[in-house]
Amino acid sequence: KNDISVDVLIIGAGPSGCVAAAYLNGKGISTKVVEKNKFPRFVIGESLLPRCMEHFEETGLLDCLKAKNFEVKAGARFLKDGMVCNFDFSKKFTSGWDYTWQVPRADFDNTLAQEIIKMGVDVSFEEQVTEVNIDETGNSCTNVVNVEGKSYKINAKFIIDSSGFGRVLPRLLDLDKPSVIPKHSAIYTHIAETERPKGTEGTLITFDVVTDTCWLWVIPFSNGTTSIGFVGPSDFIESFKGNAAEKLTEMLKLSEYYYDRLKEKPFLFEPHIIKDYSKAVKSIFGKGFALTGNSAEFLDPVFSSGVTFATESGLLAAKLITKQLNNEKVDWEKEYEEYIMKGVDVFRTYVNEWYTGNLQKIFFHPIENPIIKSQICSVLAGYVWDEKNPFVKNHNRLVKTVAQYVEMERESLLN
Ligand code: FAD
Repeated sequence: KNDISVDVLIIGAGPSGCVAAAYLNGKGISTKVVEKNKFPRFVIGESLLPRCMEHFEETGLLDCLKAKNFEVKAGARFLKDGMVCNFDFSKKFTSGWDYTWQVPRADFDNTLAQEIIKMGVDVSFEEQVTEVNIDETGNSCTNVVNVEGKSYKINAKFIIDSSGFGRVLPRLLDLDKPSVIPKHSAIYTHIAETERPKGTEGTLITFDVVTDTCWLWVIPFSNGTTSIGFVGPSDFIESFKGNAAEKLTEMLKLSEYYYDRLKEKPFLFEPHIIKDYSKAVKSIFGKGFALTGNSAEFLDPVFSSGVTFATESGLLAAKLITKQLNNEKVDWEKEYEEYIMKGVDVFRTYVNEWYTGNLQKIFFHPIENPIIKSQICSVLAGYVWDEKNPFVKNHNRLVKTVAQYVEMERESLLN
């Protein structure tokens, strides 16, 4: 294969790479996507947030997704010890989308990838980025190897690294730094559900809190399969005996609510285990490159923020590159890193406060405060850049303060 030159090289054809590619292509910027796998391919991350619908809409990717009739996600349910907390996105504080989807990612990501190809983006599958050299002006030369082991070079003015857990540039440029999130792991698979409970019960996305720090996700898809998985401290997940299937079978007993529905349903694949999944980097941009999606940062699945963060950062990086290629000045520190990290910081607080128990106190408090609920609901819908929302602007203090208040109220109810 001959060496090629493009304006922008995108590594990875997940949602982050596809949204970035669709935007750049729409602006007439020559873009090449290199994807290691053959699509469709499995990846975890199946519960989306309403905020990401804006990104698909803006880049012309919404209609192809709508046509797939994915299961609609209009909110989320949290369960713990017989207590229930329902969030309804139509009641959120920030205006914006009030639904999204629950998606089997193989199908979802392939739909996006095929659509950008239709739009005219050059996408190569089964080709892997193995080496990147970026000069002091930001121009890069990237080595790509195909399945036959043959390599070629791509010269680009800019690289977007959307390689997810492949984390190509963090590895090659030594950008990794330890995550401050506690070490957690996940174990998950899909099951076929020929007979689901009737009505919304059968299709509702639910997070069942089985111990203070371990929870089960149940994500039904419109194709009749359901994703199930546990997340918890790595040593807790490891403490279950046997192989992955035996561990997951045993763990299902932790869910009083779901055990009868889920037990004895054959696993559609040997459960996957991802250990210590949280990732962080020293910087999410540099001369000639930007990291987007999971390649930049991954916190925790508890609030389903991964894909939304991937599309938010992919779209913003593409917009800033477009400005730069049009010879406008871009302040990457301020316009990219600071903006993206603001949203990440909000989610980080919610993830941390979930595992400290403070957020669970608020969610499961018997006296509901509709204003607080609508403001937290906006965060859970992915609207984490809306500073008019006190639960965004004062995320650090407010969750703790409200948790203290509800604790006092709960104690006074008990006395
Ligand atoms: P990906 O979708 O991972 O795509 C990256 C692509 O890059 C892949 O196709 C890969 O093959 C390709 N690639 C990798 N290396 C190379 C290379 N060297 N050369 C070329 N291509 C390469 N997010 C949610 O929004 N909702 C959830 O419910 C959710 N649940 C999760 C549960 C768990 C247990 C975990 C660990 C994560 C979860 N996530 C969830 C996060 C979600 O998986 C990611 O945030 C999301 O997939 C990121 O999208 P992306 O486009 O950045 O990367």
